[in-house]
Amino acid sequence: HMHLAAPISAATSFIVFSMDPFSSSPWLDGKVAIVTGGASGIGEAAARLFASSGATVVIADIQDALGEAVAASAPGCTYMRCDVTDESQVEATVAAVVAAHGRLDVMLSNAGVLLPTGSVMDMDLSELDRVMAVNFRGAAACVKHAARAMVTAGGGAIVCTASVASLQGGFGPASYTASKHALLGLVRAAAGELGRHGVRVNCVSPSGVATPMSCTLMGVGPEELEAMTVPHNVLRGKVLRAEDVAEAALFLASDQGAFISGHNLVVDGATTAVNPDVL
Ligand code: NAD
Repeated sequence: HMHLAAPISAATSFIVFSMDPFSSSPWLDGKVAIVTGGASGIGEAAARLFASSGATVVIADIQDALGEAVAASAPGCTYMRCDVTDESQVEATVAAVVAAHGRLDVMLSNAGVLLPTGSVMDMDLSELDRVMAVNFRGAAACVKHAARAMVTAGGGAIVCTASVASLQGGFGPASYTASKHALLGLVRAAAGELGRHGVRVNCVSPSGVATPMSCTLMGVGPEELEAMTVPHNVLRGKVLRAEDVAEAALFLASDQGAFISGHNLVVDGATTAVNPDVL
């Protein structure tokens, strides 16, 4: 660190400041991160938070105008088009980030879709394929190519946005639930394999957040959706926001979470912890 090389007389106050454990450097200081699905919702909040926490962030999404706008308004963020359902685009994005910034420290695989595939009895199986192609297969491509870059560099942190639907049915259509259960399985398997290479792999699993995804599904605006969720929250009166999910992802992505791997960090205000009959 700079203060060790600086003359003692000039650096004394800085040393005192930097030894205070409560004023340590930003959590992702100097790290390089990719955030898939970073043009909107939870990914946008995470891209902004990661960048303000010291990271160089590449937003990878298919909504070019939104992604460019987020990058333009968030210092430290740039945008690259990347459809995660196309493995070659994921591979090229990781390669471009490593070429531009020297390495990849953090992959937040967050891109996801929720299609109203209906009851299992009349589920459209081609729609099931579309959900799996983004939420599971797309995430698998991100884990694979991030892991290759990180193992080469000697370490890194992969975080996948799963959902409370990774743990229980009833939080979305069966296609979505299945895709998130599969994603959690992938994360656990990858954590086991990659730990010896210094790569941690974890999930964040939010309950409902008012984002374009959930608002489109419900056909309401964000305020209306939040008002609908309040009576069902264990933390009465509180509403889960994309920024709260981003904070959990930041923790897992940073060295603060150095011994956490294979974990599913639920961000649901106790929803999946409590028997709903007692609420
Ligand atoms: P969102 O629709 O606001 O954001 C999702 C982003 O992913 C969009 O910008 C979209 O363009 C991008 N995306 C979709 N397909 C892509 C592809 N093939 N390649 C690259 N990018 C693609 O939704 P959100 O709510 O912010 O969702 C983010 C993640 O959070 C998803 O994985 C979702 O399943 C998960 N999640 C959301 C909620 C919720 O209530 N909103 C709850 C639990 C989990």
